[in-house]
Amino acid sequence: ENLTNTLFSSFEADEVTFFADLILPIPVPRLFTYRVPREMAEVLKIGARVIVPFGKNNGRVFTAVVARLHNSPPTNYQARYITEVLDEYPLVTGYQLELFRWMAEYYMCCVGEVMNIALPSGLKISSQSKVQINPDFDYPELLTEFEDTLLTELKKQQALSYDELVRLAGAGTNIPALIKSLVGKKAIIVFEEVREKYIPKMVRKVRLNRTYEEKEQLLALLNRLEKLPKQQEVVMRYLSHVPVQMNASLNQKGLDKTILNQDDTVSQSSLTTLIKNAVFETFELIQPRFSDNAPPQAEIKLTDAQREASQQIMAQFERQNIVLLHGITGSGKTEVYIDLIQQAVGSGSQVLYLLPEIALTTQIVVRLQRVFGDKMGIYHSKFSDNERVEVWKGVVSGQYQFVVGVRSAVFLPFDNLGLIIVDEEHETSYKQHDPAPRYHARDVAIMLAHWQQAKVLLGSATPSLETYHQAKQGRYGLVELFRRFGDATLPNILLIDTKVEKRQKTMKNEFSSALLTALEANMERREQSILFQNRRGYSPYMQCEDCDWTAECPNCAVSLTYHQRAAELRCHYCGHKEEVPRICPVCGSTKVRTIGFGTEKLEDQLQIIFPKSKVLRMDLDTTRAKNAYQQIIQEFEGGEIDILVGTQMITKGLDFDNVSLVGIFDADRLIHFPDFRATERSFQMLTQVSGRAGRRAGRQGTVLIQTNNPQQTILQKIIENDYKGLFDEEIQERQNFNYPPFSRLIKLTVRHADKAVSQQAADRLAAELTDALGSSRILGPEQPLVERIRNLFLFDILIKIERDKVNVKAVKSYIQDRINDILTDKGLRQVSIVIDVDCL
Ligand code: ADP
Ligand code: ZN
Ligand code: ZN
Repeated sequence: ENLTNTLFSSFEADEVTFFADLILPIPVPRLFTYRVPREMAEVLKIGARVIVPFGKNNGRVFTAVVARLHNSPPTNYQARYITEVLDEYPLVTGYQLELFRWMAEYYMCCVGEVMNIALPSGLKISSQSKVQINPDFDYPELLTEFEDTLLTELKKQQALSYDELVRLAGAGTNIPALIKSLVGKKAIIVFEEVREKYIPKMVRKVRLNRTYEEKEQLLALLNRLEKLPKQQEVVMRYLSHVPVQMNASLNQKGLDKTILNQDDTVSQSSLTTLIKNAVFETFELIQPRFSDNAPPQAEIKLTDAQREASQQIMAQFERQNIVLLHGITGSGKTEVYIDLIQQAVGSGSQVLYLLPEIALTTQIVVRLQRVFGDKMGIYHSKFSDNERVEVWKGVVSGQYQFVVGVRSAVFLPFDNLGLIIVDEEHETSYKQHDPAPRYHARDVAIMLAHWQQAKVLLGSATPSLETYHQAKQGRYGLVELFRRFGDATLPNILLIDTKVEKRQKTMKNEFSSALLTALEANMERREQSILFQNRRGYSPYMQCEDCDWTAECPNCAVSLTYHQRAAELRCHYCGHKEEVPRICPVCGSTKVRTIGFGTEKLEDQLQIIFPKSKVLRMDLDTTRAKNAYQQIIQEFEGGEIDILVGTQMITKGLDFDNVSLVGIFDADRLIHFPDFRATERSFQMLTQVSGRAGRRAGRQGTVLIQTNNPQQTILQKIIENDYKGLFDEEIQERQNFNYPPFSRLIKLTVRHADKAVSQQAADRLAAELTDALGSSRILGPEQPLVERIRNLFLFDILIKIERDKVNVKAVKSYIQDRINDILTDKGLRQVSIVIDVDCL
């Protein structure tokens, strides 16, 4: 069926005046009708981009996308003219328009917001654009107050020019420094102003005319050229690079003209003649981005277990659209993916391979490139906008039949997907928090696949409860891979009772004697260790010993984190920074101490305890620069480094040969985090980080977990790698309290600078929702853990909607209506409400 016609129906009558309903990249829940100038009427197509004026006195310019063509003028306003048509052919496919519409409805936001995030800024040309919000940006981040204002502004407008930045910032602000800082924090993307349309880099290539792919024809040709040895020489040269009879598809890809020309003028003119005589043909190709990489490797050799897994997945795809590959860490899931990707690509369909942000910057891309070479596109938030546009165009042109990318890769213009792989499907970074659309890339991928009749493979060593539940219910297929590659065994996990060590006074700072002994032994063996503490900075609190004063953020209800390297106190929610006080600002005491520890402090203590050790730290603070991840990882891989200290960044997908010890700090804090998903999350995180140890055969890894309470059942489950046991217990809890996967959650966060106003709006909203939906479905309003952020008081309302009993669409539209009532209530001015569907 024609998707475009379902909602964005096309207009076919032969009218003179045309109107176009456009998607503008702004958070207004409607399309905008513009007039189509006569000379554009014939060329304008649904899915094409246009440039339009907008706002008072046409003061702004937007790139919009055509959603509908018709001839009924708007009734309540005078339609303005479209200024320019950017695309002769639809840039946005019918599938994408459908996706935008679905996402806006499902995630309760505006189509324009979806479009704004979906299109790389290089495709949203506007006369003033200069910087744009990074679609993969995650809050909370270290932002100064002004940076925060700027991002809020960027969320409203699609982009800001230099002039607008200056106006916003006021005189005296160092704009280049500001931009540099925001780019460093991955909050914005800067792009050059480009008025012209996208012109890909083309290379001229030459190939043998198809008829000469036949053996007889080719022999006849060579015979004929006996009398023209120079021309024959050119053909032979070509054949030495491209043996056409063995590989017609290589011939279709052709050869760079320069290879045949080399430097001699003789072969140049011979080639020209051969082209004129239609022996050779020339054609243009978009310049491949990875052309200088190693040529694709021959096939990978799957282990028996991997081959069996791959075959089972294919077999289950006969009956199921979605299959879960539950494979322990180090089982070689990637090799299974590669096998399946090769099959899908070979059958002519497109493949999308989604990875969490951090995993992608590291080692997997290299492995994939060895196999897929320049057929593979990479879509990544650290890529420049031009690179993103290139991948977009490469998908359209067929250059990239296979794309590996982060969550926003779901927006690429695929039209023939055969397979989508979602690796580490349990990863929460697949969910976008801010700005809208607050989508989950895994769930969007499943919708995409559904529309394009593609298969979805979800992979994880620690699947989300949602996914595993579906598999157990038979709605998804399930394939298990429970052996590590090359007979490596899972690490031996030991619990260190820090209560006992503290009592016996054997702790050295944060380190148990058990961990220190293990670290030392590991260094002596010249093996590497990873230490995990999910908290960055030096210490999370700074407190006066005499009067108990604690350093707090002036804008948020949290303590300030002490960063020793930068010698400042920082708020991890709003970016506020201040100097470190020498004396207590309340009582003047000099006994101001730090409490608790982050990665910086561990790094310091290691240097004191083992002065000769080489330590690296990987957390948000050390990885802001573009290639910082890679550098740290390469350095660690190089083997000179003894210990890598890091936050949850080090838990994801890293594969080091020489790591045989993992140490985990503060496990209790993860386990007791006040959230119904805490048990699931800590199992996932601790299992994943443990999985970094002992990935090579012949050397079992060791994991030491420091805890105050080794009896906790979750720790036992982690030791025994008992995912299924954990699932059985947790799923029972979820069912008892009607949490996902037994319900869907929608979180509404009411925000206002005045606590009373915020509370009033939240109370009213909750009361109205309770009236309509019943009290069992509404939780709150409740102040979140951090009740004030950036000077706004927050109240959360959680709505639980059962999966089958309720008409979800009707509930959502009811919620939206109640929210609109509040937002338009004059008594509740400037209340804002964030809607997060399927919140995590
Ligand atoms: P997982 O993603 O399941 O944790 P990986 O795919 O990273 O595991 O594989 C673990 C390691 O084993 C990698 O270094 C990988 O190169 C290696 N490996 C896995 N399967 C094979 C294979 N069939 N041939 C060669 N090396 C393999
Ligand atoms: Zn004091
Ligand atoms: Zn703050």
